[in-house]
Amino acid sequence: MLQLSERAKNVQGSVTLAIDSQAKQMRQQGVDVVSFGAGEPDFPTPQHICRAAIEAMEQGQTRYTPAAGTLVLRETICKKLKEHNGLTYTPSQIVVTNGAKQALHNAICVTVNPGDEVIVPTPCWVSYVELIRMAGGVPVFVQTREEEGFALQAADVEKAVTEKTKAILLNTPNNPCGSVVGADTLRAIATLAVEKNLIVISDEIYEEFIYEGERPASIATLGEEVKEHVILVNGVSKTYAMTGWRVGYVAAAPVFAKAMANWQSHATGNVNSIAQAAAVEAIGGDQSDVRRMVEEFRQRRDAMVARVNAIPRLCCRAPQGAFYVMVDIRQALGCMFGRTKLTDSMTFAQTLLANKAVAVVPGKAFEAEGMIRLSYALSMADLQRGLDRIEEFMNQLTME
Ligand code: PMP
Ligand code: GLU
Repeated sequence: MLQLSERAKNVQGSVTLAIDSQAKQMRQQGVDVVSFGAGEPDFPTPQHICRAAIEAMEQGQTRYTPAAGTLVLRETICKKLKEHNGLTYTPSQIVVTNGAKQALHNAICVTVNPGDEVIVPTPCWVSYVELIRMAGGVPVFVQTREEEGFALQAADVEKAVTEKTKAILLNTPNNPCGSVVGADTLRAIATLAVEKNLIVISDEIYEEFIYEGERPASIATLGEEVKEHVILVNGVSKTYAMTGWRVGYVAAAPVFAKAMANWQSHATGNVNSIAQAAAVEAIGGDQSDVRRMVEEFRQRRDAMVARVNAIPRLCCRAPQGAFYVMVDIRQALGCMFGRTKLTDSMTFAQTLLANKAVAVVPGKAFEAEGMIRLSYALSMADLQRGLDRIEEFMNQLTME
């Protein structure tokens, strides 16, 4: 019999994307679904960015570019990292990727050997676990606790380090919790990385989505030696409502950047040339749309947190960043909806979708059983409509 590779057999599809396509398919069939599923900004890509893509096409920018990205885009990224993040990189240290997803894939593939351990604070975004496994690595989870606002503790990270640890995957602000790694914890992790010779893969895709206090500094700013250990990941999907354009990037020490560029030169070649031209305008152009979108997200966050906490058997904390709320459903587990027993986050999500046409992501996808994730990347009207339905659902639960 024809067999899949061992590597492929172990890879699970993305739950977030699966729920998103299920909701989109139901909508096409005429069902009025409210989706709190995938983290995809509902805003259209700003006009000036779309115009840059049209101009690029008209000017014939439709050919191969260097595999690591056009020089103008890599220069624009360097300028942004310098002016916005206080980080000095040269264009040869930047690789433009097909979304932050490929940035993570590249970073993991060029650093992790089969059997190497990668520390992942949980709850974590669904793709980290599979991306590590795809490279033959072993994810090692460090749990953060709901009671502590999902704050990462440096001591817990330190305890998880073994002789096999190769890297730490940080995501701040975090998907799905919206938590931000504190400055002291970041410093302690930086020291640990240098001492133990570990790589820090720092996923900063939600850097603009901060609702409390200052925008936190990247771990790469904590000294030149630390920066050598950091592979910084970012992209345009969330900040500029450009999920479909597929542009992300990595910034790293030359040895890593070169390896990632080589890797990508065979795997995919360059990112779409037109999307790269649009990214130049997004990252280098007028930023006022970003401020407008973040302000709108703040209002939605506040509305969602207040509503959820007023629904029986549900509670949540106000996240500091990103655009997700983790809702604690533990008081609803064991309850019945009609003849269905809500045994875990998966049955909760499935029953809610089937009966109230509301899509949410089960916490299990993020190593966070007992929770569901609600994205607030949808209009305020839909958000309220969806929460009305969730409230109705919760009011219909009975004890067994
Ligand atoms: N990192 C995190 C934490 C995410 O939530 C996402 C969501 N898509 C990504 C990376 C990848 O983003 P993209 O590939 O669209 O740039
Ligand atoms: N990252 C987003 C999410 O967590 C988009 C979907 C995906 O790529 O996983 O929902």
